[in-house]
Amino acid sequence: MFVIQGYLRDIGQQISVVQRSVNEMEELVSLFRMQPTVADRPRAGALRVTRGHIRFAHVRFGYEHQHGRVLFDDLNLDIAPGSRVALVGPSGSGKTTLTRLLQRLYDVQAGCITIDGTDITTVTQASLRGQIAIVPQEPLLFHRSLAENIAYARPDATPAEIAHAARQANAADFIDRLPRGYATMVGERGVKLSGGERQRIAIARAFLSHARIVIMDEATSSLDSRSEMLVQEAMERLMAGRTVLVIAHRLSTVMGLDRIIVFRHGRVCEDGPHAALMAREGGLYRGLFELQSL
Ligand code: ADP
Ligand code: MG
Repeated sequence: MFVIQGYLRDIGQQISVVQRSVNEMEELVSLFRMQPTVADRPRAGALRVTRGHIRFAHVRFGYEHQHGRVLFDDLNLDIAPGSRVALVGPSGSGKTTLTRLLQRLYDVQAGCITIDGTDITTVTQASLRGQIAIVPQEPLLFHRSLAENIAYARPDATPAEIAHAARQANAADFIDRLPRGYATMVGERGVKLSGGERQRIAIARAFLSHARIVIMDEATSSLDSRSEMLVQEAMERLMAGRTVLVIAHRLSTVMGLDRIIVFRHGRVCEDGPHAALMAREGGLYRGLFELQSL
């Protein structure tokens, strides 16, 4: 009997290992899909960000396998240094794609994107991505220690720097409560983190990276209210002195930002601070707001 139970347990573990590999494979495959034809130019230099001024000028872009359909056509945006901008709009309106283009995961088909006046196609991708911190909806954590997960963008970071970043990100408290602290392994055989905790790890990464531009894709599934408060507070801290684009789903976030850009089918249909957009009778933002469904 014991033998059989042990055997079944082993099979169970094998299955979860296989499941994990499958999940990792899927992640890898989607990462490859995200890495299309973009290449550094022969003498590309490093991007230097001084102010974090982002411009989209006459940008045209459509995904290749969308039968030549264009998503952005002559898109123009001027995002002031240090401003905090919400990207809002129905699903499929182009919010995520806009942030991918800024990271140059794809090249634009016409027009250009500049950061502090430098066309992002003229600099190395490594330097560009080093200046942009991402806080995804569902941050991908590695099967490594929490310390390694935080220091992922800066493997040379000291334990003191890692702990400081965790404090800024409101992650230090839950890490300190774990018996092995920063050495705790993440994942299958280690600690399982909640969505809010994973986002705070991603925010700690962002603090450590010294990036001047932050892209946050807010979680759509609701966090519990304490977790949401901790994430929100950490984000406030992270936003200070940085240029921030938030793909926002929460009214509380959107209202507090400097500017809200409302997209529809790849076009900017409304653009301004909360109060100005709310003043528009019959406006899309006002409609979304009244439905409480960003
Ligand atoms: P949002 O983030 O506002 O929901 P997206 O930027 O994800 O919008 O999508 C904009 C449009 O591009 C949609 O029509 C979507 O189906 C399409 N799209 C998004 N990602 C891809 C992709 N990797 N390949 C092809 N089409 C895509
Ligand atoms: Mg999206």
